[in-house]
Amino acid sequence: MSFDAVIDVKNVSKRFGGLRAVNDCSLRVERGSITGLIGPNGAGKSTLFNLVAGNIVPDSGQIIFDGQDVTGLKPHQLFHRGMLRTFQIAHEFSNMTALENLMMVPSGQPGESLVRTWLMPGVIKDAERHVRQKALDVIDFLKLGHVKHELAGNLSGGQKKLLELGRTMMVDAKVVLLDEVAAGVNRTLLQDLAANIERMNQELGYTFFVIEHDMDLIGRLCDPVIVMAQGEKIAEGPMSEIRANPEIIEAYFGA
Ligand code: ADP
Ligand code: MG
Repeated sequence: MSFDAVIDVKNVSKRFGGLRAVNDCSLRVERGSITGLIGPNGAGKSTLFNLVAGNIVPDSGQIIFDGQDVTGLKPHQLFHRGMLRTFQIAHEFSNMTALENLMMVPSGQPGESLVRTWLMPGVIKDAERHVRQKALDVIDFLKLGHVKHELAGNLSGGQKKLLELGRTMMVDAKVVLLDEVAAGVNRTLLQDLAANIERMNQELGYTFFVIEHDMDLIGRLCDPVIVMAQGEKIAEGPMSEIRANPEIIEAYFGA
């Protein structure tokens, strides 16, 4: 295999007490791909994401991100290196407008540092203008212009999801991790969300690593799809192949 992996998980294990949540698991996410991760409940998918994003540290094995060993780095360190993860719009952000929500994303720009704020107000002004313009561009891209001054708390479920996606666009992401971002979103909005993920991938070059229960969505968006069960990777390939594998279907989708 000679592809360019943005994430390279090497023989990673994580136990919780006696439970092997992730067991000597190796997998790669190719740059420019939308890679899917599926498997039954309890397979270890979210734990794997937590390991990759630095929320938990593996017992053994390595996480290579963009060619560098990042095993043991903290989430904020990985964030600044371009490992992004969506989070539900937190309660405290619901009283800010959609535009303000995007402008709140820590950017690593001057303006974060209080000292610089005192010393160099001009720099801050420029940075603020830059962040605002970027937020407006993101709003445009996601076609949320009509709700940009609406409070985030008043947005529809689907619009909130788009805003979550938009937050990942405020920084230069090398990969975006989506853990069941479509949960509870209706069919129409799901199509909308999927279309935006596709556009971010195709037009802007974003790489995605996606956990999703909705097999239609996975089939439409992701190639390759990685199947996990009992903490291990058991298969990988295009969804058409995964779907056609009777062992996988029987054992893991109960078809
Ligand atoms: P999935 O996302 O595929 O449904 P998870 O990664 O959430 O699976 O969970 C894998 C296994 O690890 C499950 O048995 C789960 O109960 C267990 N687990 C996950 N996180 C913890 C934790 N923080 N402490 C103890 N057990 C955990
Ligand atoms: Mg999970």
